Amino acid sequence: MPNTADVVIVGGGIMGASTAYHLAKRGCKSVVVLEAGEMFGLGSTGLNAGGVRYQFASPVNIELSKLSFGMMERFADEMDQQIGLRRCGYLFMLDQAADLEQFRRNVALQNAHGVPSRVVTTEEIAALAPEVDVTGIIGGTWCPADGLVDPHGLLQGYISNARRLGATLRTGARVDAVEVADGRVAAVRTKDDLIATANVVIAAGPWSASIGEMVGVEIPIDPIRRQIAVTGPIPGLRPDFPFVIDFSRSLYFHREGPGILTGKSNNDELASFDTSVDQEWRLRHFEEAAQRLPLLAEAEISAEWAGLYEVTPDDQPILGRLPEVGGLFICAGFSGHGLMHGPASGLLMAEEILDDRARTIDIDPLRWERFASGVSVGEYNVV
Ligand SMILES: Cc1cc2nc3c(=O)[nH]c(=O)nc-3n(C[C@H](O)[C@H](O)[C@H](O)COP(=O)(O)OP(=O)(O)OC[C@H]3O[C@@H](n4cnc5c(N)ncnc54)[C@H](O)[C@@H]3O)c2cc1C
Repeated sequence: MPNTADVVIVGGGIMGASTAYHLAKRGCKSVVVLEAGEMFGLGSTGLNAGGVRYQFASPVNIELSKLSFGMMERFADEMDQQIGLRRCGYLFMLDQAADLEQFRRNVALQNAHGVPSRVVTTEEIAALAPEVDVTGIIGGTWCPADGLVDPHGLLQGYISNARRLGATLRTGARVDAVEVADGRVAAVRTKDDLIATANVVIAAGPWSASIGEMVGVEIPIDPIRRQIAVTGPIPGLRPDFPFVIDFSRSLYFHREGPGILTGKSNNDELASFDTSVDQEWRLRHFEEAAQRLPLLAEAEISAEWAGLYEVTPDDQPILGRLPEVGGLFICAGFSGHGLMHGPASGLLMAEEILDDRARTIDIDPLRWERFASGVSVGEYNVV
């Protein structure tokens, strides 16, 4: 382990790995990523649904998706790593008039940003996904360019290429303290090492508030449990089955190998680091899932798990410099849709650190200061 570094990144999920890669690519070789887990990808990055979409309600999230999609398209060539990007489309199904109105506005905004999404009728939904029971559905939205990616491929690509470019990435290296001197970051401490550094990036996902506490900065990110189940093979399941979301039920499905991956968010879940499977919630989830997608009724569950969303008060990430301590940065709080924004966010963080300011996308709406100023643009399309 080096005992000095230009930049130390706390957390080796998609945000930490992508930031390290983009810093190293820009020529900043003295970068250290410290990951508490014994392996990379044991946090949210290894436990998510792999969905990638343009269909957001805020301009900044649509732009983050556009930048990330371009990078994912080039990933296999540039990074020598397959990521299984598949454009199966995202189909939002709506049963509330107010949601349909909001999604109409979202589609207009997405179209203005060049995204090929559109509003669809219930009949069109039934044609796009005949496997789904559309009872109660009054309309929805569809974007054929949305899809899926392999989270592990994406993470591994950034880790191996950051290393190739000279960065140091370590597992089993929990950060216990961030030392500050004269109002600036001075060093990072693990149980085995002390690394002197002038720049620290908090990329600890759902654990980011605890890193802020180390330096007296309040970071409003709550860990919220979210559950997923994957079925065994479902005979006759078509390869291009889309990513289907029953929005008001926070219920979703997509094809995973020969079966279906399904999740349902519990919007009453309280903040905690508990990642055991909630048995009561799982029963409610499976009952509603089988109603919406009847071919699940006969399917066997082959895997189940719970992970943590990293939720902010406005469901938007916190990106950029933290003004209270010199040399302190944050890239966290993506509120359950961060995998897809990892590629873009790492690039923007590298710009923020090396050029003083992220410039490819204006990240002002995502800065930490918004919580004090009260000016925040929340995200409506949260599942
Ligand atoms: C069930 C579920 C479904 C999801 N579905 C999607 C989806 O379809 N599409 C999508 O884009 N996103 C999805 N997400 C969200 C996505 O997974 C996250 O937004 C993203 O992975 C966040 O990445 P991260 O790097 O910020 O956090 P993480 O991957 O959690 O990485 C943070 C890392 O910091 C480490 N750490 C914590 N404390 C310390 C410390 N003191 N010292 C050192 N290291 C530390 C942790 O061990 C962890 O590895 C989903 C999430 C869940 C839980």
